[in-house]
Amino acid sequence: MVVDAGSFIFQFNTERCKRCGICSHFCPRRVIATGDDGYPYARRPEKCTRCFLCFHRCPDFAVEVKDVDTDAISAG
Ligand code: SF4
Ligand code: SF4
Repeated sequence: MVVDAGSFIFQFNTERCKRCGICSHFCPRRVIATGDDGYPYARRPEKCTRCFLCFHRCPDFAVEVKDVDTDAISAG
């Protein structure tokens, strides 16, 4: 699952994600919602302010930031 945030893309690594909902709970812009399968997804990616709360709050390092220019991926 991917959030397009301009020059960055937020990715939810489903191998690490335990579906706790913390990222969607802390997102101040309500960008992230929980799907029927329990995994987060970008409901309103256009609202993302790149505050990185989802990245820093995830306890399982499942939110990754991918630089679209270099393809470099950072985990929280
Ligand atoms: S905070 Fe991390 S582990 Fe929890 S639902 Fe979000 S991505 Fe998954
Ligand atoms: S970076 Fe901030 S606004 Fe964007 S999805 Fe994560 S918590 Fe929400």
